[in-house]
Amino acid sequence: MERKRIEIIAPCYNEEQCIELFCRRIEDVFSRIEGYDFSILFVDDGSEDATLQIIKNMAENMYRGKVRYLSFSRNFGKESAMAAGLENSDGDLIAVMDVDLQHPPELLYEMIEAVETEGYDCCAARRVTRDGEGVIRSFLSRSFYHVINMLTEIDLIPGGTDYRLMKKEVAEAIVSLPERERFTKGIYSWIGFKTKWISYHNVERAAGQSKWSVRHLFGYAGSGIIAFATAPLRGVIYLGVIVTAIAVAYAGNVIWGEIHTGGG
Ligand code: UDP
Ligand code: MG
Repeated sequence: MERKRIEIIAPCYNEEQCIELFCRRIEDVFSRIEGYDFSILFVDDGSEDATLQIIKNMAENMYRGKVRYLSFSRNFGKESAMAAGLENSDGDLIAVMDVDLQHPPELLYEMIEAVETEGYDCCAARRVTRDGEGVIRSFLSRSFYHVINMLTEIDLIPGGTDYRLMKKEVAEAIVSLPERERFTKGIYSWIGFKTKWISYHNVERAAGQSKWSVRHLFGYAGSGIIAFATAPLRGVIYLGVIVTAIAVAYAGNVIWGEIHTGGG
């Protein structure tokens, strides 16, 4: 049987301490998967540290032919990095994974099973515990799911992460969308496809620090709601209809009054 290749898209912003660890873990996991090879497409999201040099080094030496990369001229954000990665991806199956090892590569065993034998198009990971995460952050994040599910027609799975394995067709469907302001969590839900959710427990970063401040998270939540919220739009339309009805009734009343007083 011909071996299939899974391409892993890994967005990185200032991850100099994680790149090599990441490559090694992936290599290790794949040494135990039969019938599949891997390749890694790093998307350097305008890192200011040695991330890009390290990636280049990996691509030219130790992981030649296994690692390739894209590099942004400045920091555009993880959403843009994932979008560029998907657009340039090439593999029989495509995975999207954080480079800090908070997305356990071992879940790939179960993900491959889901996509290859259980009839799913896509398998995504869902974090069921938030140990090690701040109270405020965890509260805000939970509230976000309530708000977005209330205001939009898409259904977001609480704790759902960006970590997933998908068939080529799913990646192509995402790339084909013209959205500029990307909110991938919503896009995956919106395009449909049969998705299996698997749960895992929160893992701490392998090294370095989180790049998401509370301010960034608010911006992210905001763009998700703006991109998918239909409730406020509907609200405005209903309001328009009501105001128009009142105006018409009022005009009718004025005309009626004119006819009656004007005539008499
Ligand atoms: N990331 C990125 N661009 C950014 C911020 C983050 O590409 O502007 C990457 C980062 O390098 C990591 C992933 O997105 O691979 C998740 O980021 P992080 O670990 O900082 O987020 P957290 O896990 O704390 O939510
Ligand atoms: Mg992380």
